[in-house]
Amino acid sequence: MKIGFIGLGAMGKPMAVNLLKEGYQVSAFDVNRTSVDEIVAFGAVGCSNGGAVAASSDVIITSLPNAGIVETVMVGSEGLFSQCKEGTVIIDMSSVSPSSTLKMAGIAETMGIKYVDAPVSGGTKGADAGTLAIMVGADEAVFEKIKPVLEVIGGDIYHVGPTGTGDAIKIVNNLMLGCNMATLAEALILGVKCGLKVETMQKIISKSSGRSYAMEAKLEKFIMKDDFEGGFAMDLQYKDLGLALEAGKENNIPLPMTALATQVFESGRASGLGREDMSAIIKVWEKITNVRVAGGE
Ligand code: NAD
Repeated sequence: MKIGFIGLGAMGKPMAVNLLKEGYQVSAFDVNRTSVDEIVAFGAVGCSNGGAVAASSDVIITSLPNAGIVETVMVGSEGLFSQCKEGTVIIDMSSVSPSSTLKMAGIAETMGIKYVDAPVSGGTKGADAGTLAIMVGADEAVFEKIKPVLEVIGGDIYHVGPTGTGDAIKIVNNLMLGCNMATLAEALILGVKCGLKVETMQKIISKSSGRSYAMEAKLEKFIMKDDFEGGFAMDLQYKDLGLALEAGKENNIPLPMTALATQVFESGRASGLGREDMSAIIKVWEKITNVRVAGGE
């Protein structure tokens, strides 16, 4: 099975490297020529556009910044659809809206192309280690066909349902992460102001009903160290909350907490924290309240 890979960024490059290490033949393209050169050094065949990747691939994986770019990569004049053979499977691993995926899947279907959404969770660490959680929206038969490929990239592969459902669960998951992180930040500020040590809150709340993944993953590793390098960028969390709001609008579902959390992270981005881990939002509240949480005691 020949694999095509488009979008060799923080997530895409390590995924493509893992496929090459497993022995797959990979053709790759990215608008950034340096990224293509880097993957060629690992044994991939470099291509000059998406169409060229499609012409030589049975399965094509995309890992791109947003839905607008995914759509251009699919339907543009040098895009994938222009060169895909009938029966090709496209797996979009970007975080995008279900409605955009369904639009692309509809066009693909008229050309005999199978279109799968397979967004991921686990960050660049998971991409490097090949342990990502992958949430797949696909027909059963297509899922079975691509499962061995996904098993090289991820550790937990979930077949959620038909095309579009992978994106849906990714959005729901990240909506919860964003809201929980926004809540954690303001709660920590209040606790410190009321005389609690951060360590005390960590010890007791991690065994109590207020605990969350946001606390487990972000408090000790980032906030208590006062180091927000790496991790999950606030810009990406903000983007995912936007996707949830978009899906809410399309489906007539109110999402008040999501809207509020979006504004919280908007404040973080306005403060220049967009590229830091999302937990850096604590710095905004520290500044406003003159309460110091980061760095622990
Ligand atoms: P990134 O910006 O590092 O990589 C995106 C890549 O796409 C870049 O190399 C860029 O040059 C390339 N690209 C942009 N436009 C292109 C085009 N028209 N044609 C070909 N290539 C193009 O982003 P990332 O962090 O790798 O994220 C990729 C996707 O995965 C996003 O949708 C993101 O939301 C999602 N995601 C990221 C993480 C994370 O921790 N970074 C975690 C989960 C999900």
